[in-house]
Amino acid sequence: MGKTIGFITLGCKLNYAETSTYERALLKDGFEAVPWSKGADVFLVNTCTVTEHSDKKCRNIIRKLHRQNPHSPIFVTGCYAQFKKAEIEAIEGVKCVFGANEKSLVVPTIKDILNGSESCAYTAGTFFPAYSSGERTRSFLKVQDGCDYKCHYCTVPYARGESRNIPIAEIVSQAEEIAAEGIVEVVLTGVNTGDFGRSTGENFFDLIKALNEVEGIERYRISSIEPNLLTEEMVDWIASGSKFLPHFHIPLQSGCDTILKEMGRRYDTAAFAHKIEYIRKKMERPDGPRVFFGIDVIVGFPGETDELFEETYTFLRDVIKPAFIHIFPYSRRAGTPAAARKDQVQDSVKTLRVQRLEELCATLHEEFVTSHKGLTDKVLFESTEKNGMMSGYTENYIRVERPFDPGLIGKISEVTI
Ligand code: SF4
Repeated sequence: MGKTIGFITLGCKLNYAETSTYERALLKDGFEAVPWSKGADVFLVNTCTVTEHSDKKCRNIIRKLHRQNPHSPIFVTGCYAQFKKAEIEAIEGVKCVFGANEKSLVVPTIKDILNGSESCAYTAGTFFPAYSSGERTRSFLKVQDGCDYKCHYCTVPYARGESRNIPIAEIVSQAEEIAAEGIVEVVLTGVNTGDFGRSTGENFFDLIKALNEVEGIERYRISSIEPNLLTEEMVDWIASGSKFLPHFHIPLQSGCDTILKEMGRRYDTAAFAHKIEYIRKKMERPDGPRVFFGIDVIVGFPGETDELFEETYTFLRDVIKPAFIHIFPYSRRAGTPAAARKDQVQDSVKTLRVQRLEELCATLHEEFVTSHKGLTDKVLFESTEKNGMMSGYTENYIRVERPFDPGLIGKISEVTI
């Protein structure tokens, strides 16, 4: 029997796509994937460093793994591994730590070490292609990695390196592999997805047009895209009958121009509002489903007074009116310009602002969902059965439930909401 391996993934969809790719490669080589809590011959931890809390969670998991499996080597990769390699190498039980440019070495190194090799041979690679599988309905396809923007609060550019990608043709081949597995929906993921093409002289618009032609894939979503990179030309094309759905996840971060400037973001609230309005006008059907906007917001950025936070609150409530708000309390990350500022906001104030936005989000989400009652939309049903029910998402990302019917799994069906 092959060696058993336990995978632990923390953080974003990009990490899940990468873990899924390591898993496919190792299973092909005879490894058996087991739940990490049951113990294994070897472990792979894919880490995240988005907040101080994420770092701590990673360290705790690695320590727990070692306590429970003192003889099993632990391999660590992901953003925290890139950012604080020495810190992780110092934890007992850790065998090799792979940074952002060493991901293509994860699988060969695990095999070498288990075959008796002693050293972790690190050499730099560039882009590690990845997609998630295992779900029968949806796959996360990594199209881009790294970021050149350097927003003043963010460590991701240091953790994942510069913006890069593989050519469109290779990503199309990966989408074809996904289609061959019978998966019909693909979510394009990246660190700064819309910045695709920087290292190959291509661009994101050409990528989505090429992916649109892949047979078997019926729906695409873009996991997240910077507002300045979602052009009107792209919106026009998406709206004109492409397979890309009326669902956008766009980082706003603040609805206050003073804070946006201090964050080092590349737009102001007027440009953001114009983009949202443009998309709504192009893509909304007055008698049918509306565009789903998921908006990221950071609260408690240094210098965010009560008045400046109110600007964000009213901008979201009165102008943007998203279907969902992803709320992040600002986390002070060493090495970033924002961390050095003296005007940090107290945690208790951040907590209150998070609560206010959560309440606003609940109201907006409810309004969005109820405005769809009685409308017809296409739902892709998933395999999980809970209390005799199954669920799936409409094109515009409303979760719909119906009595379980195995014949509908992975199929797109028209439903009245
Ligand atoms: S765009 Fe800004 S927030 Fe996003 S990864 Fe790049 S630096 Fe970080």
